[in-house]
Amino acid sequence: MLEALTAKVAAGGRVSAAEALELYRHAPTHVLGRLADDIRARKHPDRIVTYIIDRNVNYTNVCVARCNFCAFYRPVGSADGYVLGFEEIFRKIDETIAVGGNQLLLQGGHNPDLPIAWYEDLFRAIKTKYPTFKLHALSPPEVLHISKVNQLTVPAAIERLVAAGLDSIPGGGAEILVDRVRKLLNCYGKASADEWLGVMRQAHLAGLRTTATMMYGTVETDEERIEHMMRLRDLQDETRGFTAFITWSYQPEHTERGGSEATGIDYLRTLAIARIVLDNVDNLQASWVTQGGKVGQLSLAFGANDMGSVMIEENVVRAAGAEYCMDEVEIVVNIEDAGFTPKRRTMHYEVIGDPVFREREVPRMLSLGTAREGGDNSVPEELRQYPARSLAGKRLRLSQ
Ligand code: SF4
Repeated sequence: MLEALTAKVAAGGRVSAAEALELYRHAPTHVLGRLADDIRARKHPDRIVTYIIDRNVNYTNVCVARCNFCAFYRPVGSADGYVLGFEEIFRKIDETIAVGGNQLLLQGGHNPDLPIAWYEDLFRAIKTKYPTFKLHALSPPEVLHISKVNQLTVPAAIERLVAAGLDSIPGGGAEILVDRVRKLLNCYGKASADEWLGVMRQAHLAGLRTTATMMYGTVETDEERIEHMMRLRDLQDETRGFTAFITWSYQPEHTERGGSEATGIDYLRTLAIARIVLDNVDNLQASWVTQGGKVGQLSLAFGANDMGSVMIEENVVRAAGAEYCMDEVEIVVNIEDAGFTPKRRTMHYEVIGDPVFREREVPRMLSLGTAREGGDNSVPEELRQYPARSLAGKRLRLSQ
């Protein structure tokens, strides 16, 4: 059975869920890697590996969702809760542009005290100040949260956010798109599997391109990992809206759920099977942020064709114990050492050039920035303009 299956994949055939499971469970790791690498080579024969310089900014850590795998969020009213000010975000954009970046990956908690007008004003302010800068922002559960808080339909919320400057949507919050798992992770309330996919469908229909993700290694079975991939493949058949797929392992430190982290081999096998199943998704990112640079480099032999983002700032994964940092120089060295040619890209995977540090002098980024300096509990002045919904939020506005 395995031999026939590997021959089918090698010939470019599409696998069923049962066939994918058979390969995932029983194919030797080197065979899975070879199959995935062949598909990568067919889709990207030029041996180019891309990356993007952007900044991962978490605009608030206040969240009502309380997913039990998350070490980043703070409950409403917490002394450690923050909302970044517009000026703080502008400073982060300036620093991003200084190292050759062209985009913010902007995501945050489900903060009940930020109405849609806050997002619209922020996006408009950014686009006025930095007209060509891109906003890859608000994962599907955040879009859903904003639509509910503001009593809007999802298409209406997306329309308003796009009008204000939203360029594309990151695929966060997918975890595993199976409701049994989502209930156990306490993330069913923020978005069911159908709701996550529904937001992405609406985004694609509105003309946005998005990414798709999978966080594995909590309570899901192998079958459920494959089901997740199948659901993404089905939506991609329908809309062709996903530019890329990114998978990473659950990071357990400081989380309510606890437990242990999946191995590097599990990561490489999961990446490879994703390359095989997701035959309609062109780009797969290496998740070096959770796996480290060396496994990230190995990913390029297991189906990945992209090194993701040069990390300038990271808060979410670091809160759960992973703190890998690579600036552009290190990403480029890792790509070249693996035998590929590094190129910078946009969120749409258009190549925009060679490494910036080879074109001009840029500051090295040898440690990761944070959303805020530790102990900075300042409340941005402009928050006053936006009505709060929670009691704690109302008190905070009054105390300003
Ligand atoms: S994963 Fe996101 S939605 Fe869930 S608790 Fe953390 S910040 Fe909130």
